[in-house]
Amino acid sequence: MNTYADAGGETFSFEAEVTQLLDLMVHSLYSNKDVFLRELISNASDAIDRLRLERYAHPEMTEPDDAPWIRVGFDRDAGTITIADNGVGMSRTEVIDHLGTIARSGTSDFLRALTGDQRGSAEAIGQFGVGFYSAFVVAEQVVLTTRRAGLDPAEAVRWTSDGRGTYTLEPVERAERGTTVVLHLRDGQEDLLNEHRLRTVIRRFCDHINRPIFLGGTESAAGEEPVNQAAAFWSRPKSELAERDYHEHYRSVTHDTTDPLAYLHSKVEGQYEYTLLLYIPGTAPYDLWLQQARSGVKLHVQRVFVLEDSGQLLPDYLRFVRGVIDSADLPLNVSREILQSSRAVDHIRSTAVKKVLRLLRGMATDEPDKYATFWEHFGSVLKEGMAEDPARRDELADLLRFPSTHAESVSLREYADRMKEGQDKIYYLLAPTLADAGASPHLEAYRAKGVEVLLLGEVVDNWVVTGLLQAYDGKRLQSVAQGDPAFGDLEDAADKERAEQADATYAGLLDKLRTVLRGRAWDVRVSTRLTSSPACIVSDGATTDAGLVDRLQGNGIPSRPILEINPDHTLVDRLDRHQDDPRFDDLAHVLFDQGVLTLGGCLEDPAAFVTRLNALLSDAD
Ligand code: ADP
Ligand code: MG
Repeated sequence: MNTYADAGGETFSFEAEVTQLLDLMVHSLYSNKDVFLRELISNASDAIDRLRLERYAHPEMTEPDDAPWIRVGFDRDAGTITIADNGVGMSRTEVIDHLGTIARSGTSDFLRALTGDQRGSAEAIGQFGVGFYSAFVVAEQVVLTTRRAGLDPAEAVRWTSDGRGTYTLEPVERAERGTTVVLHLRDGQEDLLNEHRLRTVIRRFCDHINRPIFLGGTESAAGEEPVNQAAAFWSRPKSELAERDYHEHYRSVTHDTTDPLAYLHSKVEGQYEYTLLLYIPGTAPYDLWLQQARSGVKLHVQRVFVLEDSGQLLPDYLRFVRGVIDSADLPLNVSREILQSSRAVDHIRSTAVKKVLRLLRGMATDEPDKYATFWEHFGSVLKEGMAEDPARRDELADLLRFPSTHAESVSLREYADRMKEGQDKIYYLLAPTLADAGASPHLEAYRAKGVEVLLLGEVVDNWVVTGLLQAYDGKRLQSVAQGDPAFGDLEDAADKERAEQADATYAGLLDKLRTVLRGRAWDVRVSTRLTSSPACIVSDGATTDAGLVDRLQGNGIPSRPILEINPDHTLVDRLDRHQDDPRFDDLAHVLFDQGVLTLGGCLEDPAAFVTRLNALLSDAD
């Protein structure tokens, strides 16, 4: 909807979502109201970067090449704060697109963050691409005047809104390119009209902004000193920076409210020249699991922001890493396509991966508690590396942690170091969920022998197992739900003899079960892995990883299911003695179905299972 208003302006409605957002934001951000300054200054700085990129792409541009600046002014009498820049500015269409609608998919996530339990996360506003609207937290009216670089002074535009559903646009004259945002403060916000206050906020939030930010007045005075350092944070020498500075920088670029767990800052010189400033966050960002949303690392070329990495600079399995990579070798107009085939990028990528993994290794060794936090948030992502980056498999394997029958969390190294005498394999159980894994009958014999079994309950664990199938430190991985239990030297002579005897004793029963369960069980065998359950299902020894994939992604049953029966169980004994009983078939099927259930699988025909079970129960004396 748009109608013509009196002053030659045109009135537009915000998208419904914007109105909802504005309402919620004003209330939720109230205790963090200073955030508005960070957001508006960061927009100004982005606009300056965009101008520089455009100038590079269009050298014929006639805009004067004056030094970039950002200015924050205030007027106590008028009750206004002004943020102005000489960046790229906006055309009328751009104003409508950028300040009337919400382009990014993050909005609904942000609305959820505002209304959910973690109300504090409103501070994270900038992360969701809606930072501009934070102006309404302190302002009852916002007037933005802008002229796009390359357009005539007469093509400037003024955007005015009280943030309550509509905004107006009117054409204005503006001699210089760039944008000026005037905030008419709400009653009670007078405390902001104070030079000391504004200076402190700018220093705190914007010190890393590599453009000079001036404070006071409206005209740029010669020889004036900027409030901020105006040097790219990462280009400053490490020796000048304390942990506190890194944490502040991290928070201002990521809009995260928690400190990072670790960081690395490294200047690489030689054949290629670049700076890495990379952080390991303390919490998972909201978009960690969204497919296209990758905003971890921002590529800069000679301190100008160029693009967000989407997998060229860091592999997907390190997508939780945040920070900046600044290259001196790439052209400013670099595209994703160029990145893919650039030798400089290959070099940067392999160094960055190496350094991040080293940082994690150090954390795992020196600060295990911190590493546990890291693992809790990002372990599942890092595990993807086992499939994605075969060349670093061994290095990654040492970073993995698993729950086991013996501990909440164990590394493969710890597991290998405490293996039982005579044990030559690393045992694991893969199940749809961790709860399924822990309760599985397949563990019974291993528990009885005190052998540790890793419990793998995530879909991504498939890749881990596949990646490690050869071996870790010379020890093969062996599923406890696959093929022969293969206790190796752990099995004593008595065990072996008992198993052979049971095979002979139950030969007839096995045959009968094979007949009854034809089409369901690929084979029926006597088990050596059960102590208290009557039966379980394992997969064929020859089934390779593909079978495991099926098992987790299909109905949870291996492609060649083998029913194993416990020779010491009374139920099995009863089946053996009553092979001619009319209930034999029902019992056999129920036994098989139980095996499927304890595997964490789904019954193909639950109704048949229930009918059979009820028949058996009604028959019981
Ligand atoms: P984000 O900065 O994450 O894109 P914002 O809500 O802060 O989200 O800003 C929305 C958009 O408005 C920006 O992407 C930019 O296109 C435009 N914009 C805001 N402020 C300025 C400015 N000072 N100069 C030019 N464009 C601006
Ligand atoms: Mg912004």
